[in-house]
Amino acid sequence: MSQPDTYASAFASLIGAQHAFPFWKGRVALYAILRALGVGEGDEVIVPGYTCVMNVNPIYYVGARPIYVDIRSHDYNMDPRAVRDAISPRTRAVIAQHTYGFPVDFAAINAATSQHDIPIIEDCCLALGSTYHGKKVGTLGRAAYFSSQWNKPYTTGLGGIAVTSDNTLAGKLSNLVRSELLPPPPQAVAALRMQHLIYRAVIYPRTTALAASLFRRLTDLGLVVGSSDNEEYAPMAPEGFFRGMSEFQMRVGLRRIRTIHAAMQHRRRIAQIYDARLTRAGWPPLAFDPGADPVLVRYPVRVSDKQRALTKAATRGVEIGSWFESPLHPARTSLEAYGYKQGQCPVAERACGQVINLPLHPRVSERTAERTAHFVAEIGPPQF
Ligand SMILES: *Cc1c(COP(=O)(O)O)cnc(C)c1O
Repeated sequence: MSQPDTYASAFASLIGAQHAFPFWKGRVALYAILRALGVGEGDEVIVPGYTCVMNVNPIYYVGARPIYVDIRSHDYNMDPRAVRDAISPRTRAVIAQHTYGFPVDFAAINAATSQHDIPIIEDCCLALGSTYHGKKVGTLGRAAYFSSQWNKPYTTGLGGIAVTSDNTLAGKLSNLVRSELLPPPPQAVAALRMQHLIYRAVIYPRTTALAASLFRRLTDLGLVVGSSDNEEYAPMAPEGFFRGMSEFQMRVGLRRIRTIHAAMQHRRRIAQIYDARLTRAGWPPLAFDPGADPVLVRYPVRVSDKQRALTKAATRGVEIGSWFESPLHPARTSLEAYGYKQGQCPVAERACGQVINLPLHPRVSERTAERTAHFVAEIGPPQF
C-alpha cells in the first residue's frame, strides 16, 4: 500500500470511520467536505461564533455564507436552540465544533437539523479521542475533519484529514482528490521538516511564549510555514489552496498514532491536576454533558483579568494560551468582513474576554501543571 493509503486507513481505524482523506491542513479538509456535499453559491452554513477564522474561509471559498450561532457558557459549544433558530430554507450544513475537546450536544443539534435533512459536519480539530454516549467524536455526523497543526491534539506540523462512513460522500471526496488535489508545495514541506527538528530540539514550555511570538513574526515576514498565510485572510480561495499531505507528514502521523493512547491518558491526568487545584482555589469544576467524556486539547479557565494573566505569564515563562480571543480568532480579524455583527453572540464574546487555556500536551509535566495552576490561582477567578 502507498503511504497515503496506510496513513488514511490507520487514522480511519483509530477513529472508527470507514474512509479518511488526508490534506495539507484541516481547513482544506473542510473545504473538500463542503464541496463533496454540494454546498455552493447562496447556501448558508451554520457555525459557532467562537472559532478560528480559518475555519470560516472555506465556507466563502465554495460561495456560501456563514451564519453564526452563540455558544453555551459551560462547555463553549454551540447552543442547539440557537442552531434551531438559525435554520432557514438555505441552510445546507451545520459545522459542529467540539470546542477544547468537549463533545457538542449532538443529539439536540441532530434533533434540530434532521427533519430538514441538513448534514452535520463535525469539527474535530480540537477533539481527538473524546466520546459522546460511548461513540467517538468524528463518527457522529455525516463527516468530520481533524487538524494536526502544532497546537492540536496530535501533530504532523501542519495537516488535516477528512473522515466519513457515508459511501456516497466518500466517493465524491475520492473524485475530488483524484481530479483536483494539488501536491503539497515542496519548499513548504522542506521547511516543515526543518521546523520539526527545531521544535523537537528547542521548544520547552518555558520558552513557548517567546517562541510563539518569534514564530509569528517570522511567519509575517514569510520566513517559515506558519499555519496561516497572509493572503488566506481574504475571503476568497487563494490559488493552490487545495493541496494534499506530504509523505513526510504522513510518516510523522503514523508514528503519532502509535502513541496516541498514552498521550490521551497524559491529557486526562494533567486536566485532573488543574481541576483539583483550581476548584480548591474557588473555581467551579469543569462542566459538560452527562454523556460526554472529553479528552481536552487545552484546559479552558475563566480568569478575573485575562490581559494581566497573559502579560504576566509571558514574563514569568508560564505557557498559557489565549484562544479564542475573538468570535473569529485571531483578534485582528475584521468581523464585519466575515458577516459577524458585534454583539451577535454575547456568550461567546464574554468568553473571549475571560477564557485562557492551559497546556495538556506531552511536554507538560505534573510539576509544570502544579506551577501553572498556582500561577492562575494568583490571578483569580472572575465573579461567576
Ligand atoms: C485549528 C482549527 C481549524 C483549522 O485547522 P488547520 O489545520 O489550521 O487548517 C479548524 N477549526 C478549529 C476549531 C481549529 O482549532
